[in-house]
Amino acid sequence: MYDVLSQDVKYLKGVGPKRSVLLKNEAGISSLHDLLYYLPYKYIDRSHIYKISEVQDGMANIQIIAQIKTIYENGRGRKRRLEALVDDGTGVLRLVWFNGINYIHKRLEINKPYLIFGKPTEFNHEVNIAQPEMTLLTSSVEIDTMARLRPVYSLTESMRNAGITSSVIEQLVANVFEKLDTFKIPETLPEYFRKKYSLMDIEKALHIIHFPENTEVLPEAERRLKFEELFYVQLEILNYANQRTRKYEGFVFSRIGDHFIKFYHESLPFDLTNAQKRVIREIRKDLGSGRQMNRLLQGDVGSGKTIVALMTMLIAIDNGYQACIMAPTEILSEQHYYNVSRMLSMLNVRVELLTGAVIGKRRKQILEDVANGEIDILVGTHALLGDIVNFKNLGMAIIDEQHRFGVEQRAKLWKKNTNPPHILVMTATPIPRTLAMTVYGDLSVSVIDELPPGRKAVQTLHFYEENKEKLIQLVRSEIASGRQVYFVYPLIEESEKADMKDLENGYEQICQLFADMNVGKLHGRMKDDEKNTVMELFKDHQLDILVSTTVIEVGVDVPNASVMVIVNANRFGLAQLHQLRGRVGRGAEQSFCILLTGYKLSEVARRRLEIMVDSTDGFFIAEEDLKLRGPGVLEGTQQSGVIFELKLANVIKDNDLLVEARTAAQELLLSDPEKQNSINDIIWQQLAEKKKNKVNLSNIS
Ligand code: ADP
Ligand code: MG
Repeated sequence: MYDVLSQDVKYLKGVGPKRSVLLKNEAGISSLHDLLYYLPYKYIDRSHIYKISEVQDGMANIQIIAQIKTIYENGRGRKRRLEALVDDGTGVLRLVWFNGINYIHKRLEINKPYLIFGKPTEFNHEVNIAQPEMTLLTSSVEIDTMARLRPVYSLTESMRNAGITSSVIEQLVANVFEKLDTFKIPETLPEYFRKKYSLMDIEKALHIIHFPENTEVLPEAERRLKFEELFYVQLEILNYANQRTRKYEGFVFSRIGDHFIKFYHESLPFDLTNAQKRVIREIRKDLGSGRQMNRLLQGDVGSGKTIVALMTMLIAIDNGYQACIMAPTEILSEQHYYNVSRMLSMLNVRVELLTGAVIGKRRKQILEDVANGEIDILVGTHALLGDIVNFKNLGMAIIDEQHRFGVEQRAKLWKKNTNPPHILVMTATPIPRTLAMTVYGDLSVSVIDELPPGRKAVQTLHFYEENKEKLIQLVRSEIASGRQVYFVYPLIEESEKADMKDLENGYEQICQLFADMNVGKLHGRMKDDEKNTVMELFKDHQLDILVSTTVIEVGVDVPNASVMVIVNANRFGLAQLHQLRGRVGRGAEQSFCILLTGYKLSEVARRRLEIMVDSTDGFFIAEEDLKLRGPGVLEGTQQSGVIFELKLANVIKDNDLLVEARTAAQELLLSDPEKQNSINDIIWQQLAEKKKNKVNLSNIS
């Protein structure tokens, strides 16, 4: 059965060698199966035929039936075009083609009726249609089949130029369906399952999706296909998580010992929020369960994840194990090292720092002491992952700002002990809950949904560069009342040189504007010890202003800083803006985030800035972000490794369906954990098929 659909599309009626290459390279269609699953992204109602006399500028895509009266080429070079005048008895309309001129010219015939499809627009005081789709009407039957809801497929420029239009794809799909007399499209979900979740059979669903009779029949067909898509993604994730927990025993941390208790009673610098307490309870439960923990801790910037990490590490130490915490930048590692050592100074716990900057004798010593168990907590960058870093008995590994690391890095931590240590990954990158289910679907999730008391929401303002006075005033008055200020400049690889120059110029300007203040500068190209020195100076309040690139984006914690000025804020994405804003508002005073831009802004940039001004809720921002970007790749998730491309379903719009599909996957795994029941064979075969083309999760373990 399978063989028919796996046939090369080359042999399908209407394809041939040339088109098959295009279909493959441009649309990834190599087999009949691929073609069937090349789904339209929208439909156009083609049941109505307009008269030329009715055609106006600004109409959506329309169709007319008319004959070509003249056809000729016009213009030269880049202006070369093909023009035709068509007549339907009510008037004359000009058609213009800029692409595929030769091919189209050769095929069009004079004085024959064409079904002409395209969008009327005004050009040179005349309404015409550019790049219309032309179908020669050979019989009245054909008009009939045209006159209905028509699928629109995405096409690339090369496909269009070669005359592969939406109608061509439609015809090719129809040719596949024509073969259905001799074979059937193999079902991809068992019958009992389709009944249980009210899903129509696959052949019907695909037929409707490509050739809907009307709009009413579409939702059920879409539901079937989206459900299936979401179901297999969730099944893959949950199945993987299941296998993993079965494969490994987790270290059992049954004791809450001296360190934890002493710290809790004597060193904890503040009362924990209820959310922090709840999360620590969730973690403790995992650690005592005998299973290896793989938990994601989500909490907005400033929600206090570090203290949770610290107390989790103390549990490991109390049970005789070592712990480590890994952060994505040197600055952040330094800061964790500094905070953790300070908070634990009353306890007999040895904390060390390992980054690329720790070298020579000191590095050797640290490596030795980690290996013989004398170091309890090792803080560092990805330097921790190196093969030369051997722990005596690592029981707990924490990754801060997980979105900066990849799955492979998580995987390396697994191998740092004979049994994998418990893993806690933390992230503040706001990611919509529904998406988290997919991207981090293999992890258990804890959420800190409460900020420490007394925080005032950061006030966010959008200022234009053209009137800097307001900004200067604000900065001066904040500094006068003893606070500190960040100025952040964009720095991206593609425009690194120009960006560095902006930063340097900006720094000089700021030094002049605020000549009576202490101004420092920080960027990624500086040497590590220079960076550290500047950061120390800022922390010690020896600097009033820090001019920096986004090296301070994540994690940096200087509660006395109250103003974050983001220069060229239009160049940052929402997630980044939100992270940067999180660097202020960490103390009890009112803080400000100033988004500085020129007057000229793209619509999307303007919308992003509006969202920032209106909201400080990371989850809200993440959802808005997703809406702006569409359901494609999300900032901060590319690295997670668990990306499945959803072709049909949309993680935001189809949220309910996602939850339903996840539940279905859970139920299946519960009811047939050993995959013994033959009624589910189809499902496991399908999963294996789909996995072949997708990200391989099993490389984690
Ligand atoms: P993030 O979740 O962004 O990593 P941090 O752990 O850096 O946040 O905490 C932000 C700030 O809030 C730090 O200065 C920290 O000391 C402080 N903090 C954390 N928890 C509390 C609390 N329960 N009460 C008061 N301050 C807290
Ligand atoms: Mg943090």
